[in-house]
Parts: sequence; structure tokens; C-alpha cells
Amino acid sequence: MGSRLLVVGAGLSGAVISRELANAGCEVIVVEGRNHVAGNCYTERDTGTGVMVHVHGPHIFHTDDPEVWEYVNAFETFLPFKHRVKVVSGGQVYSLPVNLHTINQFFGKCLRPDEARAFIEKQADGSIAEPKTFEEQAMRFIGKPLYEAFFKGYTQKQWGCEPSELPASLLKRLPIRFNYDDNYFFHSFQGMPQGGYTPMIERMLDHPGITVHLGKRFERGQVQEFDHVFYSGPLDGYFEYEMGRLGYRTLGFERFTYGGDFQGCAVMNYADASAPFTRITEHKHFAPWEEHSRSVCYREFSRDCGPGDVPYYPIRLVNEKALLAAYVTRAEQETSVTFVGRLGTYRYLDMDVTIREALDAARAYLSSRSAGERMPAFMSSPL
Ligand code: UDP
Repeated sequence: MGSRLLVVGAGLSGAVISRELANAGCEVIVVEGRNHVAGNCYTERDTGTGVMVHVHGPHIFHTDDPEVWEYVNAFETFLPFKHRVKVVSGGQVYSLPVNLHTINQFFGKCLRPDEARAFIEKQADGSIAEPKTFEEQAMRFIGKPLYEAFFKGYTQKQWGCEPSELPASLLKRLPIRFNYDDNYFFHSFQGMPQGGYTPMIERMLDHPGITVHLGKRFERGQVQEFDHVFYSGPLDGYFEYEMGRLGYRTLGFERFTYGGDFQGCAVMNYADASAPFTRITEHKHFAPWEEHSRSVCYREFSRDCGPGDVPYYPIRLVNEKALLAAYVTRAEQETSVTFVGRLGTYRYLDMDVTIREALDAARAYLSSRSAGERMPAFMSSPL
């Protein structure tokens, strides 16, 4: 007999888990606090300009996982897209991630790959054996001039703290390249959903075994009514913040329209601390196969997430581990709840990893049920 399951949140994690378990014969109830599905991937067509807008900030799909790529393509047509990001620093425009063009332009040189590697190595601090923080990682591999031009100010604005308080893993998202490859991502599969992410997630949830309740807040008392709960809300929120709040950043968006092409690319970062926003996104460039004479842009402002704000980025301050560990211990005592996704596991997950872990969680549930074993609280440890 199929189980009766509750899935909290109709974002990527919730949709994939619901679909997989409904396919396996379970009855799935989804509760979503917002009045739409798709979580922060939510896209909608702007009525004034016709542009497909990524309402909660840009999402570019990229993965090395063939199963995940096949999975998303089963629910939406993905069209080819290469993410190329530009950055303004000191009044000039450069290419990101830092590549040979950026290095040569920034230092006014004409270096070949090996020469550039040796040049940067001289600027890097080789005495840092094991970089633990964002700043140490930058000093070890990039050196001070590039760090100060492209990373320091942006990171202070984005995270609201010093790069010396942030983990090294954050900078590892953005490697330095000693060639002219300006593709923001390394992954072999990269694309954008033709109709946006919202219809993709609607299709995942469109199954006779799934019932979605929008605008409905989850209450802990509901857990007893179900065989198992998959919770994709904030980990600390599940426990009503009883031990304090984990740090998140939220985003403020300042929307403006333009009667043409505002910046010529999808994302322009502003690295200088003097610009109050982190980046400007121009959404028609996320769908290069569409033609629009007008444009919709957003200036992105990052700030601390207060009680009434939507949490976007888990901060994971180096000195915040103890509070996280305390919540993880609490979560592991819950016998019939699995915490999933960026908020449920308090990790900076990309969409492809979110889907991979959601598929794994659904499968783990089915096999633990047949083996009569307990389903773990986390598929991978948030610590
Ligand atoms: N970053 C930076 N300068 C940039 C772009 C990124 O310092 O121009 C740093 C910043 O700390 C950021 C992190 O690298 O949070 C990861 O960047 P990514 O582009 O992956 O951020 P996302 O698009 O997920 O906000």
C-alpha cells in the first residue's frame, strides 16, 4: 500500500520528491506558504514588455549529472545557453570568471597562459597551506590586486560581513582560468527552460497522486498525520527559531524598464564597494531566442534577512557552526521528517544538486520503507 506523505514547499526539492513518490504510488500532500509553486526559481512573463522574468533572481541551469539533465528535459524544453558575466570595477568593464582576458586587461599585459599562471603565482601568498576562509582562499590563489578589484567589495556587499569570516568554499564557486574561456560554469550541460521554470515545476506536480495547497503554512502538529514528512523550509524555522536564528541574506530588487538594450548582457556585477547594489540583471538576455524591443532589469541589493523577509542565501559564517550543529542534532531526533533543499539543509545548493538530492531522498524513502528502516533526517550532513 502507498504511504501518505506531506511535502513542505513546492520549490524544486518539493516538486521532485512529490513526483517521484507519487509515481511510486504514494499519496502526496504539498503545502506551500506562497501563492505560487516553483519557490525561488519562479518565472513569469512581464505583461508590459513580454520578457520572461526570474522574479526571485536569475537561475541558470547547469549540471554534469546526465540523469538530472535528462530529468529536467522530461518536463520542459531546455534551449542552449552559455552564461557570460561581466563586472564593473574601477570604472572599467571586465570579463568573469577571472580569465586570461581579465588578467591581461587588468594588468595591461599580453601574457600567454603559462606566463599568466607564473605571474599570478608570484602575487599569491604561498605561505597559506590550507585556506579556511574566503579571504585566505583568494590570497592563496588569486593574490591581492585581483582580490581587491573583483571580490572584496562585492563579497562585503553580498554577505554583509568580512570575507575573512566566510568559508573558503564560497570562492571555490568561481575559479580563475588561464585561458579565454568566459563561460561562467564548467558543467557540460547548460541551458535555459524555453517556457521558464514555473511550467516545468507545474508539470512535475501535475499528477493524480499529488495535491498542492498554495498559501498554506505548515504547522508542526501536522507531522503526526502522515507516514513521513519532507520539509524544504528553513531548518531553524521548523523549530520556531527556539535556539536563535541561523544567518541568511535576503535580496531587494529595484525594477526598471528600458526602451532597448540596457547593458548588452544578462548579468553585470558591480564589484566596487561604492555602488550600493551587487549586480544588474537584464532578463531578456536569459532567453536569447526571444526578441523584445523593450527590457526589464533589476538592481539587486543584498541585506540581512529579518523575521519577515524571504531567506535566499545561507551565510554559514565560520564562527556560526555551533548553532547549526545544535539544530542538526535537534533535527536528527525527529523520527519521521527529512530536511531537504537549500533552506532545509542550510547549504548553498545549486539547482542541479538540489534535484540530485531530491531524487536520492525519494529513492531512499522507498527503500527504507521496504526494509522497515528509519529514513534519515538528512541525505548529506549540513555541517
Ligand atoms: N563574487 C565576487 N565578485 C563577483 C562575483 C562573485 O566576489 O563579481 C563572490 C561573492 O562572494 C559571491 C560568490 O563569489 O557570493 C559566489 O558567486 P556566484 O556568482 O556563484 O553567486 P550567485 O549567482 O549564486 O549569487
